[in-house]
Amino acid sequence: MSQRVVVIGGDAAGMTAASALRRKLPKDHEVVVLERGSWTSYSACGIPYWISGEVGSAEALVARSVEAHLANGIDVRMGVEATAIDPEARTVSTRGGADLSYDRLVIATGAEPVRPALPGIDGEGTYGVQTLDDGQALIDGLAEKPEHVVVVGSGYVGLEIAEACVARGFDTTVIDRSKAPLSIIEPELGEQVAAAMRAHGIRLLSDASVTGFTLDHSGRVSVVTTKDDSVHADLVVLGLGVTARSKLAADAGLLLGAKGGIVVDEHQRVIGHDDIWAAGDCVVTKDRLTGELIHVPLGTHANKQGMVAADSIVADVFGSDPRIRFPGIVRTAITKFCALEIARTGLGERQAADAGFDPVTVSIETTNFAGYMPGAEKMTVMMLADRSTRRLIGAQIVGGEDSALRIDVAATAIAAGLTIDDVVMLDLAYAPPYSSVWSPIQVAARAAVKALG
Ligand SMILES: Cc1cc2nc3c(=O)[nH]c(=O)nc-3n(C[C@H](O)[C@H](O)[C@H](O)COP(=O)(O)OP(=O)(O)OC[C@H]3O[C@@H](n4cnc5c(N)ncnc54)[C@H](O)[C@@H]3O)c2cc1C
Repeated sequence: MSQRVVVIGGDAAGMTAASALRRKLPKDHEVVVLERGSWTSYSACGIPYWISGEVGSAEALVARSVEAHLANGIDVRMGVEATAIDPEARTVSTRGGADLSYDRLVIATGAEPVRPALPGIDGEGTYGVQTLDDGQALIDGLAEKPEHVVVVGSGYVGLEIAEACVARGFDTTVIDRSKAPLSIIEPELGEQVAAAMRAHGIRLLSDASVTGFTLDHSGRVSVVTTKDDSVHADLVVLGLGVTARSKLAADAGLLLGAKGGIVVDEHQRVIGHDDIWAAGDCVVTKDRLTGELIHVPLGTHANKQGMVAADSIVADVFGSDPRIRFPGIVRTAITKFCALEIARTGLGERQAADAGFDPVTVSIETTNFAGYMPGAEKMTVMMLADRSTRRLIGAQIVGGEDSALRIDVAATAIAAGLTIDDVVMLDLAYAPPYSSVWSPIQVAARAAVKALG
């Protein structure tokens, strides 16, 4: 009998799920996607590089257009906002439209930017960076050639936007309440990021919480205030992090965890609701080291979770076992500021101690490839191992060209439960243009072995 899957949200998680469902379900089953915006399958991750001018257009950031999805047989309904879910009646209400019934539902509504209720925050000239429409609005704002740009927040989004502003020659100030930029890495490494920002002319105000925004007579932002400073601003970009966009789920009585993320099982099925799945920035995810349910809103997870949700739904339709599961994450992340590359995986010192590990931390300085090769640059690797099990539990990297992606070796080792002794003996690639004879990850692992005795 023909059935209907409704997907709310048409970006990474939602469209990955919808595309896989369309490929695997019989043709008489309907796959309907409700997307309130005007784009599908777009890369928000590319917005900073569009703003910097490295990417030419919004269209370049769209992996698959609405027309392409329609041609594939997915019933994508653009500009349609879901306003309520009734799990008993199995219906979704939409703004200004009729209710839509479903047999199975996927919630993929993403995340929403944190926007604290500070005086003047809604003034003209203050921008967020979440969607392609936000990106276009910011590009239009920058086209007015503001003399002073202020970026509030130095997480990876703030950092990447600051980099874009520097690339375009804007006088830029970054304000953050942390002691060093990028709180996902240890402050010692963050100091290297701070130095790079200052070297590129950015004024960095750390340990400074914004208290408000002064607006001029036309309602346009003119000053950003902190407890100790007043910074002139013609344009402000907010990069204050996100929380799960899960109001629909909350109103429907679904279980929520950290930062409002919907709680799902390893097949992305919502706990307690057999016919609802959720994926992407709107869910919480298991940390593979600690077992904690955390909210880590990244595209890399959203795509995989969309695929897992579809697999589980297909199995449900056919009465078979799911083929795949989402095993959780090890908190891997990567970014850059100009030529400085930055990456992390696993736990930081505080997180490891809080989770009950007895961590030993080492930090080594090496070069990104053989030191005698032209262009070799400094690279710092910080590594954490658990004293009792000798397991690798964390790594962070800051360094020159081709440094950061080495984090994937550490991420893989952590996911596989390898010890630092295992890591020292991994068969990793070596030739002078690519690496030192001991890979930088292995240099750090050897230091950890030495520290553990
Ligand atoms: C500037 C920036 C840079 C980033 N860089 C990286 C990076 O380098 N690496 C990385 O892994 N991740 C990065 N991310 C994060 C990544 O973009 C997200 O994790 C990913 O887009 C999440 O996908 P999603 O499908 O869960 O949510 P979203 O992409 O947010 O999509 C959710 C969709 O649901 C729609 N929607 C919401 N509510 C409703 C409703 N009620 N009815 C109908 N439609 C609705 C929204 O319009 C939206 O299109 C970046 C994000 C930003 C903003």
